[in-house]
Amino acid sequence: MKSVASFALGCKVNQVESEAIAEAFAEKGYRVVSIDECAEVYVINTCTVTNFGDKKSRQLIRRCKRQNPNALVVVAGCYAQTAPEEIKAIEGVNIVLGTKGKNEIVEEVEKYRAEMGIVNHVGEIMTEKIFEPISIHKLMGRTRAYIKIQDGCNQFCSYCIIPYARGPVRSRPEAEVENEVKILAQNGFKEVVLTGIHVASYGKELHNTSLLQVVEKIHDIEGIERIRFSSIEPNIVNEKFMEVLSRGDKVCHHFHLSLQSGCDRTLKAMNRKYSTEKYLQAVETIRKYWNDAAITTDIIVGFPGETDEDFNESYKFAQKVGFSKIHVFPYSPKRGTLAEKMDCQIDPQVKAERSRILIELSDKMAQDFINKYINKEVKVLFEQSHNEGSFEGHTSNYINVTVKSEENIKNKILRVKLTNAHGERAFGEIC
Ligand code: SF4
Repeated sequence: MKSVASFALGCKVNQVESEAIAEAFAEKGYRVVSIDECAEVYVINTCTVTNFGDKKSRQLIRRCKRQNPNALVVVAGCYAQTAPEEIKAIEGVNIVLGTKGKNEIVEEVEKYRAEMGIVNHVGEIMTEKIFEPISIHKLMGRTRAYIKIQDGCNQFCSYCIIPYARGPVRSRPEAEVENEVKILAQNGFKEVVLTGIHVASYGKELHNTSLLQVVEKIHDIEGIERIRFSSIEPNIVNEKFMEVLSRGDKVCHHFHLSLQSGCDRTLKAMNRKYSTEKYLQAVETIRKYWNDAAITTDIIVGFPGETDEDFNESYKFAQKVGFSKIHVFPYSPKRGTLAEKMDCQIDPQVKAERSRILIELSDKMAQDFINKYINKEVKVLFEQSHNEGSFEGHTSNYINVTVKSEENIKNKILRVKLTNAHGERAFGEIC
């Protein structure tokens, strides 16, 4: 039996694509193995969001070739799209694919066996207009299904290379999303996560659909009990948005609302398309409908030109919002972006110190958020089991909960009374 290892570096969209690629190989009779094992085919979905992402991608390609010098190595994804020549120059790479054509990867591999040399399939992405469908239908040990509903980004944030790697916004037609969710429900998934490169832009180029319409379409599909968004932007959140979402009871009370900076001057330099005022309005609107909503975010510290005052402003804004978690990223210059060429790059030590301060705030806010639920009952979808009969899952508002159970409760939604918490994990007893 032929074997394949399909692995993603970077974001959730890459991970969804790599799982779908593995599933496509399995359907053709391949045995799917881990990236640490010896495989006949390696498919590496690269990331280019930082220069470090490029380096990790190169290292992984070389490691796979060392594991099996006879392996066929396919390199796809954002780094391959933006720098195909660099990828081709790595010894042992057989097929270079960009961010499109991933749904034909099995055929390309099978065809390759009759060809010689490096095959470069990286095509133009900036003029791409069609969403390329890529699906996962099987559980593969998970209870939460990520569905890619959108690709591309038209935002051009000054620090980000992704619009050049993924091309313009392309949305998956509503009917296709609906159909895929139905299959996922039939296959036992209870939670779906709508994901994409810029989910808030869903439907922008199709004109006859919107993110809200998609949610309405999939809301009543039998078997689906939770609908989550991977990440959205504040500009999409208004009264209508929340009013429609709160009509049903399946949309999770959790929003990952990108902030990036709580200082308007920095937001402008980043070319983000909202102000802190707009952001706060979005948070208040969410909480007006769901006061238990968890708001998580990403913040970049040490963006070029960020002064101590700017950082303090950002810190105070984060405090004011009251996040349940902040993913803190020290700014990392990315080749080919505007921000890389900006003056006033920040000293790495200053970035490290600002990261430390913000992570400390995030930890405290996460603890405060969880503590509100101690001695209260919550509903948990159990996702995985550990040793000694302990099971872990999440609430709708994304509290990580662990309980003990002799019965297998994986993929069940149960009521749990929370008893205590350590860090970002809560513990409880099944009611
Ligand atoms: S919204 Fe900005 S950060 Fe996100 S992918 Fe688009 S350009 Fe990059």
